[in-house]
Amino acid sequence: MSAKTKKAKPVRDLLFGNLWEYDPAPETAEPHISERYQLFIGGKFTAPRSKKFFPSFSPRDGSTLAEMAHANDADVDAAYQAAAAAFPAWSKLPGAERGKYLYRIARLLQDRAREFAVAETLDGGKPIKEARDFDVPMAAAHFFYHAGWADKLSYAAPGKTLAPLGVVGQIIPWNFPLLMLAWKLAPALACGNTVVLKPAETTSITCMKFATLLLEAGLPPGVVNFVTGAKETGAAVVQHPLAKKIAFTGSTAVGKWIQHTLAGTGKRLTLELGGKAANIIMEDAPLDQAVEGIINGIFFNQGHVCCAGSRLLVQESIADQVLAKIKIRMRSLRVGDPLDKNTDIGAINSSQQLDKITELVASGSAEGAQMHQLECALPSQGWYFRPTIFSGVTLSQRIAREEIFGPVLSILTFRTPEEAIEKANNTAYGLSAGIWSEKGSRILRMSTQLKAGVVWANTYNAFDPTSPFGGYKESGFGREGGKQGMLDYAELL
Ligand code: NAP
Ligand code: MG
Repeated sequence: MSAKTKKAKPVRDLLFGNLWEYDPAPETAEPHISERYQLFIGGKFTAPRSKKFFPSFSPRDGSTLAEMAHANDADVDAAYQAAAAAFPAWSKLPGAERGKYLYRIARLLQDRAREFAVAETLDGGKPIKEARDFDVPMAAAHFFYHAGWADKLSYAAPGKTLAPLGVVGQIIPWNFPLLMLAWKLAPALACGNTVVLKPAETTSITCMKFATLLLEAGLPPGVVNFVTGAKETGAAVVQHPLAKKIAFTGSTAVGKWIQHTLAGTGKRLTLELGGKAANIIMEDAPLDQAVEGIINGIFFNQGHVCCAGSRLLVQESIADQVLAKIKIRMRSLRVGDPLDKNTDIGAINSSQQLDKITELVASGSAEGAQMHQLECALPSQGWYFRPTIFSGVTLSQRIAREEIFGPVLSILTFRTPEEAIEKANNTAYGLSAGIWSEKGSRILRMSTQLKAGVVWANTYNAFDPTSPFGGYKESGFGREGGKQGMLDYAELL
């Protein structure tokens, strides 16, 4: 490990120091991060054939947390061979037996919840309260939910027999590393598939820690294999001949490349891509509640959320009032150390992402939108961005069209519900949307007109394992979660 690596102090001390002022109970969870991680292939930690490693940084302060193995084509091939070897026995297990493994995994994750939450926050930069109260419990919930399905598959599609597909290749992004892993693994395993999964380059640590949990659960070797690495590793996962399906979550650009690459191969594909969701506030909406939904919709996880409510559409008659309320509410947001339990907005995941946000925000001002940024001190080290809103945004501006994937809100106005729908649908994406109104009939009518996979009414960013999630247009196809998401991992005979 290089000399520049390593945390200056144990995390316990850092947490204790940060929290002393607000909460006298010290946080005692240790993230147990190793200095170096190998690949996880065939139930064993395996040295990469590439002999290469790359650093995983903490966006909190820019320090190196660990070195991760870089899987090359031969490593990815070994992972697929292991998954193919494990498939016959795993797929023949009675569903109830597969379910037991999933229940065990869910319980073990709950047992180690605090440890996983701290590791997730350190590696990805999200506020510890979100990792602790959302990412980790929701990841466990996905395993519980699919454990329940494993012995009831014959009820999922009445009159049909569900057969597993075989070996599935899965690729996940950096914004919800553990949760995306759970979204992908749990349904694949419940249906009897085996898996080769690649986490994102900047957030592979909780995935590799998850491998230790799979060993603890006694999962048969080769059923799940993890290959860490960069873009080439992802491309090798996509192109391997043994893959019967690819499940990808990430950018629209990479999703399109995968679609081209798999055309004509007969492999199944599901894509969960970007978004530019409209969060629509009608003049009869409960405004204080709506403002909470607006704040949560854009600032949750620093805005690194594919379904973030990044375009706020406000009815003209209440636009000034809503803007004033948002500005007041923004003043109470705490930006800073993600390990501090009181932090609302943590660190930006990588320096590259920070550059992208900075560039798009500059374009907003240059193109004539009015910027309102929270005035607050930022930590001197690490990657941070002040919560920012733009008013007076028009649909032609880049900040209204492109996914910023940061704590930046673009506010547009409309006069009639028809204009709101037209503006909301005037985007290349179609992942999610929100409507705030007192009138149920208006919500029902408008929600059917929105071209978005998920529409929230008088709430935002509400998730549940039973509910399918996915998009239209450039936001991808296929669903994850619920029965619909699970059926994407099975052949209906
Ligand atoms: P990305 O560059 O597309 O990366 C996603 C994953 O794909 C990473 O593991 C990445 O590996 C890998 N990858 C990169 N190039 C690849 C290639 N040619 N072939 C195969 N895999 C490849 O996206 P990101 O920047 O990590 O994530 C942010 C994007 O994901 C946003 O656009 C966001 O909207 C979208 N997203 C969508 C959803 C959803 O559910 N719809 C959820 C979360 C995020 P490396 O990390 O090594 O580059
Ligand atoms: Mg990292």
